[in-house]
Amino acid sequence: MKNQKDSRTEAPQNLLCPSYVCKPGAQLYGVVNAGGFIDYLKATIEIDESFVEEAYKGRDPEKRFRFAGNCAKSGCSHWSKGEHECGLIGRVIEMMDKPEEAELRPCPIRYQCRWFRQRGGLACAQCNEMIRNLETAALEAA
Ligand code: SF4
Ligand code: SF4
Repeated sequence: MKNQKDSRTEAPQNLLCPSYVCKPGAQLYGVVNAGGFIDYLKATIEIDESFVEEAYKGRDPEKRFRFAGNCAKSGCSHWSKGEHECGLIGRVIEMMDKPEEAELRPCPIRYQCRWFRQRGGLACAQCNEMIRNLETAALEAA
């Protein structure tokens, strides 16, 4: 099988982290539904301070929504300097082990998403069930 990483070249612009925090300027791209899965929006919505203020009144916003923002690369603890890529998505794929689906669900950040750029549809297969704080906690405990 062709290595998907090899078939994608790094875009000149910064790629987006799909596991970003709820803060002004972040791009809202998904909402966690009652079943715990992500409903992807048709287009991203840039959130502002009033959204953030409201969101923090309830449960952790990262458990209810999915946000994207510029990948911090070497400024993030998940960045692999040796591989020059995000190390988190590889660990999530190993942990969740979901097979790639025949058809990708629409996602408004797909062609700017660092995880998709690195691992293609295999990243998307895990993404639908990921909630930022849970995924990070599970990985850090491993
Ligand atoms: S290295 Fe990975 S987890 Fe860190 S900001 Fe970039 S995409 Fe997100
Ligand atoms: S991994 Fe796939 S589904 Fe998840 S945010 Fe990136 S492009 Fe969207």
